[in-house]
Amino acid sequence: MKNKTKEAQCSFCHKPKSDALLLISGIDGYICETCVEQAHNILNEELELESKKEIPKTSKEVKKSSSKPHMITPMEIKNHLDEYVVGQDETKKILAVAVYNHYKRVMQEKSTDEVEIEKSNVILVGQTGTGKTLLAKTIAKVLNVPFTIVDATVFTEAGYVGEDVESMLTRLLQACDYNVEAAEKGIVYIDEIDKIARKSDNPSITRDVSGEGVQQALLKMLEGTDVLVPPQGGRKHPEQKLIKINSKNILFICGGAFDGVEKHIARRINTHVIGFGNDEHKEIDRDDLLRYVSHHDLKSFGLIPELLGRMPVLTYLQPLDRATLRLILTEPKNALIRQYKKLFDFEGIELKVDEPTLDFIVDKAVEYNLGARGLRSICEAIMTDAMFEFPSKKNVKKFDLTLDYAKSKLSKTKLASLSAA
Ligand code: ADP
Repeated sequence: MKNKTKEAQCSFCHKPKSDALLLISGIDGYICETCVEQAHNILNEELELESKKEIPKTSKEVKKSSSKPHMITPMEIKNHLDEYVVGQDETKKILAVAVYNHYKRVMQEKSTDEVEIEKSNVILVGQTGTGKTLLAKTIAKVLNVPFTIVDATVFTEAGYVGEDVESMLTRLLQACDYNVEAAEKGIVYIDEIDKIARKSDNPSITRDVSGEGVQQALLKMLEGTDVLVPPQGGRKHPEQKLIKINSKNILFICGGAFDGVEKHIARRINTHVIGFGNDEHKEIDRDDLLRYVSHHDLKSFGLIPELLGRMPVLTYLQPLDRATLRLILTEPKNALIRQYKKLFDFEGIELKVDEPTLDFIVDKAVEYNLGARGLRSICEAIMTDAMFEFPSKKNVKKFDLTLDYAKSKLSKTKLASLSAA
């Protein structure tokens, strides 16, 4: 029972009612305005701490990776790549060394040494479907760092319709549940970098809004700077809260087909014949020429020297021949046929594909000129009916995919019309 004769006071700080601006009464006590405010601040601090704790809760894996990417030797990196990517040995080696050096630099950043190791962003040149994205994706997986793929063609310079280049870091953030620390050590694969080449060689274009502006916008980000990133992507707008990310330790791997770069290579080789045997430049052969691709050729193609300077590691991917396509179908850890086997396995069905059928699938991919991506379309075309019907049939336990079956299914699809072309 409260003593009526005694003046009411705050139960927390004992401030008497006469000194308080406001005294709120509860069931068995009072609280003054100062204590309300203090309680409010304590609550805010607690909530903030909780929300910070929550990020790693939802992304334990990434948190692990944030402090330490898996450091393995270049040879081990290559061995891992071999499990998923067929061929492209030279590229794998170059990539493994570049990535290893990059993360070594990241891990030893605090050293007091005067020698500063420069960042080794990478540019991959090779026809579409030769495994550029797959290589970048696999590297990120091996090192357990956040990874994202962006398409250079969606970016435009400020003021034009499209996305700001900063939004690529939004995707990296999203890939690791907004864990800034992890994102700052991630890998961004920028696809179709060749599509933002300057086109000013073409006299009909007087103003180049497409390519060069975007290249300029990429410069700072590739080199390493604080970037203010819109958390939801898209274009920045004034009211939006932005997240600050430093791109210094983010590895950028750029890829492009650079269709037509061969003519620049040929021209350069013909003017600097020294060092090349006569045979090598007598005939313009696409495969051979790409082998000699240099930063100079990409500059002639339309990438600005400043951007090329920020991608010191340049390598190329070989076009996939028939034998490689055949290996891609069955050899990698997640090879297409293995994936289909697993899909049927879920239904309790054992899928068997015989050798002639595998050869047939490869022949068709070559015939339709669809490359490695074509393998998938062809397999889908052949197996869709089975994947549609089998789950409703309880007694199917085996699926022997034979050449006749494959031929008959493929002939009924739209893909078949490609062979006439
Ligand atoms: P790019 O980025 O060069 O256009 P991708 O890496 O996206 O090509 O390759 C497309 C698909 O083709 C991949 O999903 C992969 O299944 C397959 N592929 C391409 N090249 C290879 C390769 N060398 N080894 C294994 N699979 C490959």
